[in-house]
Amino acid sequence: MKEYCGVFGIYNNPNAVYYTYLGLYALQHRGQESAGIAATDGNKIGYYRDFGLVSSVFKSSVLRELSGFIAIGHNRYSTSGASDSPDNIQPIVVSYKYGQMAVAHNGNLVNALELREKLEEEGSIFRGTTDSEVIVHLIVKSKKKKFLDKLIDALVRLKGAYSLLVMTNKKLIAVRDPWGFRPLCMGELDGSPVFASETCAFDLIGAKYLRDVEPGEIIVVENGAISSYRLPETENCPRSQCIFEFVYFARPDSKIFGKSVYDVRKAFGRRLAKEHPVEADIVIPVPDSGVVPALGYSQESGIPFEMGLIRNHYVGRTFIKPDQKLRDIGVKVKLNPIPELLEGKRVIVIDDSIVRGTTSRKIIRMLREAGAKEVHMRISSPPTKFPCYFGIDTPTKDQLIASNHSVEEICKYIEADSLGYLSLEGMIEAAGGNFSEYCTACFNGEYPFNIPESVERQAEKK
Ligand code: AMP
Repeated sequence: MKEYCGVFGIYNNPNAVYYTYLGLYALQHRGQESAGIAATDGNKIGYYRDFGLVSSVFKSSVLRELSGFIAIGHNRYSTSGASDSPDNIQPIVVSYKYGQMAVAHNGNLVNALELREKLEEEGSIFRGTTDSEVIVHLIVKSKKKKFLDKLIDALVRLKGAYSLLVMTNKKLIAVRDPWGFRPLCMGELDGSPVFASETCAFDLIGAKYLRDVEPGEIIVVENGAISSYRLPETENCPRSQCIFEFVYFARPDSKIFGKSVYDVRKAFGRRLAKEHPVEADIVIPVPDSGVVPALGYSQESGIPFEMGLIRNHYVGRTFIKPDQKLRDIGVKVKLNPIPELLEGKRVIVIDDSIVRGTTSRKIIRMLREAGAKEVHMRISSPPTKFPCYFGIDTPTKDQLIASNHSVEEICKYIEADSLGYLSLEGMIEAAGGNFSEYCTACFNGEYPFNIPESVERQAEKK
């Protein structure tokens, strides 16, 4: 199962539950399937979780009943759809011999299956199917005495992506895996430490961004003090921050991996204009993810930016729909062209990525029907050729159009007059970094470590 999610946590604040609720609102784009909050008053962890958007899960009566001064929250987006079990909703909350704990996890572990099989052979009973549950079992089974040592004992056995918030009755702990796949930021609100997947959650509640939780870092907040620890062997794990967070996933008003998503996304568009110029009358984005790169493209090329496609914001992301037929309808429900803008024009249309190619094909047909004379497609990332095993929802290789078709073939399939993708080198440069900082596996197949065959097989079956 693949998941990408948003996490939020706050320590020592009388309104911890409300701030967590607001934090989850700001992180709604990272997961729309379910939401949950766990909070502690120092004696007992209470929680509430359900399917749905944050606004529908948390009624005011629910929030009033959840009391506590430490809280963590989680938005979940899995691809398993309606058949998913309520037991998979996070935070996971368990009681064990030494107390209670709650865990909120963003990312995907590649050795979860293997660990789970082992744990089950040893007698562990699992409630749901998420790989996050493995983490809880490993913590509980550790023979170490102190909670931190139990946690480290568990974490060193994990391979893959985890930005994690762990809460006990007294502590709040934030961890980022040694590769640093997913973002995790630390801030401060009226003296309370806060953690979130993206800084847009801090902006909403008026918290100050302090810094990122470093790859391989464990931050423990307890008795009002903050301590930082390192996972062993972190230096042997190549830094692998997910570049796709900049392309598509993160909100443009966030800062992740120490950089403004808006700036990086716009730099992608500027670079794209340099790499793939074309004579045209207007530049239009596929909203929302194409908006910022389209601005960059327009400013670099001098071709005016127009909103030629208007998005209905109440539909959700079409990708969520479980089968192809529904996805096809989704595009039409979501986007509507403005014929008065497009009539007789040579149009450059910017999107962040082509996955299966169906969206682009539909958009281009729509633009022509609305009167566009030429349609030139520009993509602000390289061709997506390989599946992600670390928490970005990508289909299997055979469904990724770029994995088995050339750019010319894709251009023909989507019925564009021309097609240009941002180069991998251009993208890394625009992100102001070098290859050693980012995971670019979805574009070049270079995974930071070998992916177990069982995981590849499972992905093929999806
Ligand atoms: P497709 O029709 O499969 O080519 O879908 C392409 C569209 O999906 C683009 O407009 C992207 O913005 C969007 N997209 C790309 N990656 C993802 C993802 N992981 N989850 C949801 N949407 C995505």
